[in-house]
Amino acid sequence: MQNLEIEPTFKKMPSLVGRRKASAIGSIAPGTLVVFVDEATLEQILQYSERDQQREIGGFLIGNVYHDNHRYIHLKHFLPAANTDSRPGSVTFTHETWQRLNHQIESSFPNERVIGWHHTHPAMGIFLSSYDRFIHENFFGLPWQIAMVVDPCQQQFGIFQWSIGDNQRELINNGFVVVPDKKQNRRLRNYRTEH
Ligand SMILES: [Zn+2]
Repeated sequence: MQNLEIEPTFKKMPSLVGRRKASAIGSIAPGTLVVFVDEATLEQILQYSERDQQREIGGFLIGNVYHDNHRYIHLKHFLPAANTDSRPGSVTFTHETWQRLNHQIESSFPNERVIGWHHTHPAMGIFLSSYDRFIHENFFGLPWQIAMVVDPCQQQFGIFQWSIGDNQRELINNGFVVVPDKKQNRRLRNYRTEH
């Protein structure tokens, strides 16, 4: 699928100053790509995550990677995954899931790309299991691809991204920046992030 490395286009970073400034949540590890998240999209993801408090559900994070002195990621849209196999301890994307995703990207977001994936951990907390890591490594292995995990029961979430360690890369739960919109966020203020 989207496993081709790309040359990011220039776009000015969302402003971190001013009246409607973007604000960082958590601390952003040095040397990692800054992830900007549209507040309305974050709300949509949290709302969707609360739909099933028993089984894991998932979706795709749509946006792009840009550069403005540094590379950064902008998460703009969310697409719930269709035709998944949802269970209490796992969610599996099927062939139909990927097919549908490709179709939706082409028709709705032709200028965007899949920057990562999302899934829930009902009452299990925020981490990446070895299965999650396998999925990420194999389907979202580009340096700028991220994984979001939401626990809708304990109202926690985290955004994981690749970080270059001493010799090898690892997935870390990293801080990010919320880009506000006009509407007040409702869910976000109830959720905790820990990393
Ligand atoms: Zn998981």
